[in-house]
Parts: sequence; structure tokens; C-alpha cells
Amino acid sequence: MTEEDIDEAQILRAGEILRRGGLVAFPTETVYGLGGDAFNPESSRKIYEAKGRPSDNPLIVHICRIEDLDRVAARVPREARILAKAFWPGPLTMILPKRPELPGETTGGLDTVAVRFPSNRIAMALIEAGGGFIAAPSANRSGRPSPTLAQYCREDLDGRVDMIIDGGQVGLGLESTIIDLTDKVPVILRPGFVTWEKLQEVLGNVDAGSLVPDLNDSSAPKAPGMKYRHYAPKGNLTIVDGPADKVTAYINEKIRGHRAAGIRTGVICTEETKDAYSADLVKSAGPREDEETVAKELFRILREFDDEEAGEIYAESFDSTGVGRAVMNRLLKAAGQRVIHL
Ligand code: AMP
Ligand code: MG
Repeated sequence: MTEEDIDEAQILRAGEILRRGGLVAFPTETVYGLGGDAFNPESSRKIYEAKGRPSDNPLIVHICRIEDLDRVAARVPREARILAKAFWPGPLTMILPKRPELPGETTGGLDTVAVRFPSNRIAMALIEAGGGFIAAPSANRSGRPSPTLAQYCREDLDGRVDMIIDGGQVGLGLESTIIDLTDKVPVILRPGFVTWEKLQEVLGNVDAGSLVPDLNDSSAPKAPGMKYRHYAPKGNLTIVDGPADKVTAYINEKIRGHRAAGIRTGVICTEETKDAYSADLVKSAGPREDEETVAKELFRILREFDDEEAGEIYAESFDSTGVGRAVMNRLLKAAGQRVIHL
């Protein structure tokens, strides 16, 4: 179905599945989500099991009315109201103190809750049909790139979920921005389309957070999920940062070496540079200045490299301002933070 042509009968069936404690994968504007009833601890347990996700990595609760924020959050500070007005429905998740009725299974045992009101119309209809509070992480097996097509949900979760709603390719392609509002200064835990710059315009003082979490920091992480391996393709991914001519020369030399060793090499590049590479698999994520397109294509490219059995993968680096910060955050995680600076 599409957002303009919603299959009401399927949505009703899906809603029924959710209300009975089942799981439904569905499109949102960011990536596909794997939904279960947020107030049913058994549903949350099933989500972790279907994804193979560690159960201390909390889920985001999806709502379809701003008022419902007060049904999951124990306190809603002024900043949260301002952000909801400015960015909901949309790709922004807020961390707030949780209400006791919300099961700890849904929040990974934390006393805070992550809440989002997605703008995709299929998602909104499904949340409504499912009772209004749908816990949903990305609909991939843990560690794999988030799904931007229903086909990728099927690859990862077929037989593990009760229904997969096909809503075509998602609009944005990267997960929501996460902002933590439980401290004095709001802090970004995961960059996304609602950028630091936009959040500052609306709230004033916002901490941009680190570009990627420090994996060596053993103090309790604010966003528990951040410590786990993410988005990793099967091949070794390396980011190469520097002037374009040096980057292409470096990568081409690597390609020659890998070819001699019988290893297929993939390159993630841009429209400007795609003709400069001699790799087996060259994939442009879009024009360098068009960060939105790069964001939308990134996870699809990572998945295609798996199918095409790229043993070594090189990615060009991107500016980490605006949406580029979200792109670099996902790339760095996918690469296990392996970066060559030229
Ligand atoms: P995903 O659903 O795959 O986009 O991942 C959701 C992410 O949201 C998790 O990895 C957590 O890092 C983050 N998250 C969810 N709930 C909380 C919370 N209460 N506090 C901090 N981070 C959270
Ligand atoms: Mg995820």
C-alpha cells in the first residue's frame, strides 16, 4: 500500500494482531519498524527475540496523538511541549521519565521512556488501530542495517513476525534523532534529520552529543543501545577521509591489491567521484551536497554489498554538519569507527 492509498482492511487486521500481543513490521518515514503493544510486556519480549536484540537496549514507543505523550511520560517539561509542537509528527524521539504503568520490558529496564510520533500515514493508521502505543525498534535483525524496504524486513524477519506491511521505500532512510530531556541541558543521543542546528533554533542551548559514542567509556551509557555493534555489512568497511584526488587514488590502489588477492571490493562514493573508481562494485549515494539523498541511500547500499559479497568496502567521508552528522554517525558505527585520514 501507499500513504495515499491505505488498505484499511489490512490495517485493521494488523491492529488486531498488535492488540492480541503479536508483532507487525511497518513503514515509518525514517525506516521500517517492528511493532508490538508497548503496554504488553510479552509483546516487548517477543520484539527482542525476533530481532535477536539484547534486552537492555530499550525500544521507542510510537504514538499517534501529541496528548498521548502524557500517558507514557511521568513529567513533560516545557522543552518537550515546544519540540512536539515544532517537529511532531516527524523524525524526532524524546527521552523523558517514564510512567510506572509502562512495563520495564519496553524500556530496557530504564526509568525513562523514548517517545516518537511518526509522520508516515500508514504508521499513524497502524498505531491507532493497534491501541495507540506501539513499541518499535527498526525491523532488522540486531546488528544489520535498518530496513528501508519491506523486502529487507522479509529477509531479516520472515517467520519471526505475524505480518509485514509493505509501504514501499521509506522517505528518509535513517532512524530518528534522539534527544534526551531528562538532564538540565537537552542532549542529542543520536543525530538524525531533525538536526542539532534546527533543535538549537527552537530550544536555544542543546548539547550536540558526541558524533559517535566512545566505546571505551565504561560509565553507564545514556543510550544503552549505542554500545552494540550496528549496521555492519559482512565485508570490512573503512572510511577514507581527505581531499578527493587523494581519496580516489588511495582506494584505487587498495582495489588493485584486493583484486590480486581475489577479493571483491565495494566503494560508497558520490556522483562527483563515481567514475574515478575501478572497483567491482561502485555505488554512488548521490551528489555530495545532497545529504538527504545520501542518507536515504546509505542502508540500501550496505545491504546490497552483502548480497553481492563485497569482502572489502571503502566509503568516502562526509561533512558532519546538518544531516551529514547523521550520515557520518551511521557510517562510523557501520565501520566500527575505522577511518583512514589522508
Ligand atoms: P532503534 O529502535 O533500533 O532505532 O533503536 C532505538 C534506540 O533508542 C536504542 O538503541 C536506544 O539507544 C534508544 N533509546 C530508547 N529508549 C531509550 C531511553 N529510555 N533512554 C535512552 N535511549 C533510549
Ligand atoms: Mg535499530
